[in-house]
Amino acid sequence: MRSLTGQMKDAALNLIFPPVCPVCGKPAPGYIHPECEERLVPVNRQRCIVCGKQLGDGRETLCLDCRHRRHEFNQTISVFQYTEAARQCIYRLKYKNKREYAAPLGHLMWKYAGRRIRFYRPEVIVPVPMYAAKKRRRGYNQAELLAQALSRESGIPCAADALIRTRATRPMKELSGGERAANLAGAFQADGPLPWKRVLLLDDIYTSGSTLDACAAALKEAGVQEVCGICLCTGEGF
Ligand SMILES: [Zn+2]
Ligand SMILES: [Zn+2]
Repeated sequence: MRSLTGQMKDAALNLIFPPVCPVCGKPAPGYIHPECEERLVPVNRQRCIVCGKQLGDGRETLCLDCRHRRHEFNQTISVFQYTEAARQCIYRLKYKNKREYAAPLGHLMWKYAGRRIRFYRPEVIVPVPMYAAKKRRRGYNQAELLAQALSRESGIPCAADALIRTRATRPMKELSGGERAANLAGAFQADGPLPWKRVLLLDDIYTSGSTLDACAAALKEAGVQEVCGICLCTGEGF
């Protein structure tokens, strides 16, 4: 159920950014064209019970990575598989200033993962923060836009400033597994003690989980007990 204020905010946003389909970029009266929605493939039940990554047809319940590594987050929900359509959506939201994609993508996250999110009962949605200088350059943080959109859909409040990125880090896609952890060490900090027990931590894409781990550690240090990650899509390269 969407809140009334959420609906009013959506109506106001529609005036500023007319709704466009995030897959084809053309106007779409209801968030996304049905044929474009079909190109986004949800992660199915055969997924890693910890990180939410899509698994093959075997009987395993953990991916190779989660069998060998303990994550700081408790679990992660990834909504879509890494198809070309999903990759394009995220790329344009992130690098092509397509902020208007956040609303339809938030809508789809809630549509496909709402039941799992509700089951987890998060008190708040916290986006993975961007370093302040980088956010000024880009003009926005795409994870924050998605968190706000998901908040409007779900009625779960968004706490965009709960975490701070204390320094610039190198893009994770350029780094190997070992370098990733070092790259993020101490890069996130909570804005003082936090009052929540269960937090939904949002990032656009899941690759190795290192970013979510570093953020989850900072949240737990600030008093949060459980952190559930939510990502629009699982990535490749892990
Ligand atoms: Zn379309
Ligand atoms: Zn896993």
